[in-house]
Amino acid sequence: MEFWFTEKQTEHLGLGVRVRESLLVEQTPFQELAVLDTYQYGRMLVLDGAIQTTEQDEFVYHEMITHVPLTTHPQPREVLVIGGGDGGAIREILRHSEVRRVRLVEIDERVVAAARRFLPGLSQALDDPRAEVMIADGAEYLRALRGACDVILVDSTDPVGPAVKLFEADFYRAVHDALNPEGLFVAQSKSPYLDRGLIRDLLGIVRSLFPVALLYTAAIPTYPSGLWSFVLGSKVHHPLAFEQGRAEKLETRYYSAEIHRSAFALPREIRDELNQAQ
Ligand code: SAM
Repeated sequence: MEFWFTEKQTEHLGLGVRVRESLLVEQTPFQELAVLDTYQYGRMLVLDGAIQTTEQDEFVYHEMITHVPLTTHPQPREVLVIGGGDGGAIREILRHSEVRRVRLVEIDERVVAAARRFLPGLSQALDDPRAEVMIADGAEYLRALRGACDVILVDSTDPVGPAVKLFEADFYRAVHDALNPEGLFVAQSKSPYLDRGLIRDLLGIVRSLFPVALLYTAAIPTYPSGLWSFVLGSKVHHPLAFEQGRAEKLETRYYSAEIHRSAFALPREIRDELNQAQ
């Protein structure tokens, strides 16, 4: 008999994957957590029915949420990740020798435990001496940090439950205050095809706080619509003035200097709509 898991991406659209084995299903204090072993994408972390990461395509998301901001900043020493309890973003951040310390603030310790048990290729990085893992609400944690960070990454779930506040203006004011005068941040901002309103609102908030506010995209097979977006806000450094040599030296599968540049070129309709919303 065949077993299939379907992520219901909208009321009328789903992504189905054939499951070899269900490795874990549990209700945590924050969300329903599952780890599935699938034929097409290997092991898959699912939260509240939404695919978070898979062994086969996680490299695209994790390389693109990290290397774009880290090569944009000339000296990224202090990095903070909010969410990201699987460890994939930390693994990529640690490829940058400039980084002295990376703090991860994940609200749900069960996500970290599940990743440690079932996704070692991502979670091993959490044991690196430069990494510190904190179990706390990222929005609360951020308020205590004043000008402490070079780069902040918001590697969160979609805006449901504890992640709702990570898409609000108050949170981005706190991100601004936690960054030092040359700091910058990136937040995952969902699909340009399916979540245009959310992206417009988020970019509007970021434009009101940061002189550099831009959207970039990456092709991620298991995320809704396959095209994913990231919002970048920077106090000084422009992502297209990045150090190409540093970008090319990184050991990556998706990210390169060429991808870094082209990721900011948006499909015309999306570009025009976001420009009109200014
Ligand atoms: N790559 C993913 C995506 O876009 O689907 C995100 C993966 S990561 C596992 C998201 C994490 O954000 C979850 O583990 C969730 O528990 C965490 N999270 C949600 N709200 C949070 C908050 N307020 N503070 C810290 N972590 C939070």
